[in-house]
Amino acid sequence: MDFAPSDRVTEMTALARAFIAQEVLPHEHFLINRGFKAMVGQLDAARELAKQTGLFAPHMPEQLGGAGLTLLEQAQLSEVLGETIAGHYVFNFQAPDVGNMELLHGHGSEAHKARWLTPLVAGELRSTFLMTEPEFAGSNPVWMGTQATLQDGQWCIRGHKWFATAADGARFAVVMAVTEPDAAQAHQRASMILVPTDTPGFDLVRNVSVMGHEGSGWMSHGEVLLSDVRVPEDHLIGVRGGGFKLAQARLGPGRIHHASRWIGVCNRALHLMCQRAAERELSPGQPLGSKQTVQTWIAESRAEIEAARLMVLQTAWKIDQHGQFREDVSLIKFFVAGVMQRVLDRAIQVHGALGMSDDTPLAFWYAHERASRIYDGPDEVHKTVVARRMLRRYGMQA
Ligand SMILES: Cc1cc2nc3c(=O)[nH]c(=O)nc-3n(C[C@H](O)[C@H](O)[C@H](O)COP(=O)(O)OP(=O)(O)OC[C@H]3O[C@@H](n4cnc5c(N)ncnc54)[C@H](O)[C@@H]3O)c2cc1C
Repeated sequence: MDFAPSDRVTEMTALARAFIAQEVLPHEHFLINRGFKAMVGQLDAARELAKQTGLFAPHMPEQLGGAGLTLLEQAQLSEVLGETIAGHYVFNFQAPDVGNMELLHGHGSEAHKARWLTPLVAGELRSTFLMTEPEFAGSNPVWMGTQATLQDGQWCIRGHKWFATAADGARFAVVMAVTEPDAAQAHQRASMILVPTDTPGFDLVRNVSVMGHEGSGWMSHGEVLLSDVRVPEDHLIGVRGGGFKLAQARLGPGRIHHASRWIGVCNRALHLMCQRAAERELSPGQPLGSKQTVQTWIAESRAEIEAARLMVLQTAWKIDQHGQFREDVSLIKFFVAGVMQRVLDRAIQVHGALGMSDDTPLAFWYAHERASRIYDGPDEVHKTVVARRMLRRYGMQA
């Protein structure tokens, strides 16, 4: 097993770090305080410059305009980009577009690729992913109300979705809908269908307010009503009833991307924690960092981050070498989300009232990254996956 940074990764992360410091970090405070829509001009200007680094859309093959990185290399880059809020956006490496690009690249038809994948990789449009529904438990995604029926060569889609990240301003959606209600296996009932968001009947009802923020554009989560939305039959991705198979393929690398981004968040939080502990004096000559409690938080955070990084890199390496690793992917999903929550909490505590303000990114992350323990499968589901697989090795039918 070898996941030491290669020369290419060392060069690439140094380049990304310098770019982030110069072109992205200066916008961070305004992004937090004014929102995405107010800052999209500046962010898109940074995107144009990012294209010249050769690291734009790093997960896509070079012949499609991406950087052609392996999953391990993507994880190493993602950690650097994760240290600031819009790092992934500026490099066109942001959810949910990353997952949709991978989906279309792996399973889209030539027509899908020409119409949606090419401009998505070029950063000319954004997309969204519609699976979760307010009326049904998202943790059991095979149970859903959205239906698509084939009528005169068109899919007619009716349903209600929410928490569609970045639906506001997205040009197309990947919609998960039941197309085979009579299939014997529950996981063979749904399909994925491409829907342009300007199709009649596609209504963005609202951006759901999350922890006091409605958000906008890429930084929002939409509620969407699908009222007899009609799209041509060939907008189906893959085969009828293949939606869950595609969803699993989409989520594997997606969890590496999330977990490595969270490590970037942790790195920044630990950096801010140490900086504050060294500079803030409780009385003349007595910095906050002289307190053992603060030292313990720093040491524990460092240990947890190092462990999280090694777990993520190991999982990325295994997937690069051998394909999907469901158990490892579940391990990093809940473990790294927990590490991030603890590290952010300690960093906020060290900052006192400043930690609660929006003068640092800590409060923003604390509010918004709480969701990491829920989206792409809640902690409990991932822990069940790991435990059941382990127990099977002991003969238990779990
Ligand atoms: C910020 C954010 C962004 C999101 N982005 C998207 C998106 O772009 N597209 C999309 O389709 N969806 C998105 N989601 C939705 C997300 O995937 C779902 O919220 C998630 O799957 C959980 O579904 P649910 O909210 O219906 O919770 P429920 O299924 O109702 O579960 C509620 C709670 O029950 C517990 N639980 C569930 N199952 C088990 C179990 N087996 N054992 C023990 N306890 C259990 C967990 O604690 C869980 O949190 C997003 C969510 C958030 C918060």
